[in-house]
Amino acid sequence: MKCRICRKKAAVKLPSHNTAFCKEDYLWWFQKNFRRTVKRFRMFKAGDRVLVGVSGGKDSLALWRLLVEIDLEADGLYIAQGIGHDELPYSDLGEDACREMAGKLGRPLKVVRVLAETGASVPELEGILRRKICSSCGLTKRYLMNREALEGGYDVLATGHNLDDEIAMLFANVLTWDLQRLAHQSPVSPQRGPKLIKKVKPLCHFSEREVLAYTMLSGIRTMREDCPHARGATSIKHKELFSRLERDSPGSKRRFYKEFLRNREIFEQAKPPAELAYCHRCAMPTTNEVCSYCRLLHRVAASKEEVHDGPPKPRKIEPEPASPAPSGLCG
Ligand code: AMP
Ligand code: ZN
Repeated sequence: MKCRICRKKAAVKLPSHNTAFCKEDYLWWFQKNFRRTVKRFRMFKAGDRVLVGVSGGKDSLALWRLLVEIDLEADGLYIAQGIGHDELPYSDLGEDACREMAGKLGRPLKVVRVLAETGASVPELEGILRRKICSSCGLTKRYLMNREALEGGYDVLATGHNLDDEIAMLFANVLTWDLQRLAHQSPVSPQRGPKLIKKVKPLCHFSEREVLAYTMLSGIRTMREDCPHARGATSIKHKELFSRLERDSPGSKRRFYKEFLRNREIFEQAKPPAELAYCHRCAMPTTNEVCSYCRLLHRVAASKEEVHDGPPKPRKIEPEPASPAPSGLCG
C-alpha cells in the first residue's frame, strides 16, 4: 500500500479511515487531527496552565509532548500507586518513563504517592476496603488529580484517554442505560464551581493503535507493561469485543463514538448535572456528606487500629463500578 500524500511505501495502514501514510506524513496527519480536536472542543484558552495526568504509558506521554508542542504550559502529574513487585515493579517503571519524558520536555513532573497520602498502597487498599482494586485505583486517581490541579493553580486537567477507552466506557454505560453517566461522558468536562477542575481528553478520537504508531514513529519511550491487576477487567473484555467488530467492519468504533457525541445533548437534557455538595471533611465536591476519599481515609485509619485489636472478619469483595462517579465528582 502507498502513502496517500507522497505515494511512497506506507508505514501505517489505517483501515478505519480507508487510507495509509509514510512515517513523515503519518506524523503530520496525527498532529493535524490532534490540533483539530483541541480546537473543535475549545479545550484550552491562550495562556492556560495545564496539568497532564501521566501514567508512563503511550497515551499520556504522547499527549504531554503534543501539548508542549502546541506551546501550552503543560506540567506532568504522576500518581504512584505502589503496584507491582520485584519481577514487575509496575509503578516504578511508570514513574521512570514519566521522569524521562519530563527531562526531555524540560517541564516539571509532580509525583504524589498513594501510600503517603492514604496510609496504604493501592493493592493494600483492596484488602482494607474489600472492594476490587480497580475501584480504589480509580477513586484515588480522580481525587488526587483534581486536588493537585486545583492546589497547583492549573486551569485544565488533561488525560490520555483514547478512542478505545472512551468506547469501552460508553459501551458499559449503554449496557446499563446509565443516563447520568452518558450525560457526563464528554471530551470536555467544564469547570464546575471552585473545586472541580475543567477536564479534557484530547486523544479521544485516536484509536489505541493510532497512538501506538505515533509514539513508535516519533521515538517516544514509554512503559510497555500492562497493569498486573487489569487482567480480566470488564473494560478489557469490552475493548476486545470492539476490536473484533472493527476487524470485520473497519470504522465501527469511530462511528459509534461520533454518533454518540452528535446525540449527547439528549442525555444532558434528560439528566442535567446535579447540584454540587461539598464534603464536610475536605470540602471537595461530592454527592454525600462525606466524600468517598475521606471515607477511604477513615477505613484505612480504622484498619490500622483493628490490627491492634485482632484480625478483621472476612467480607465479600464488592464488584468494580462500570465507570467513574457521575458528573466527574471525586466521590
Ligand atoms: P487509565 O484510567 O489507566 O485508563 O488511564 C487513563 C488516563 O488517566 C491516562 O491516559 C492518564 O492520563 C491518566 N492516568 C492513569 N494513571 C495515572 C497515574 N498513575 N498518574 C497520573 N495519571 C494517570
Ligand atoms: Zn472529603
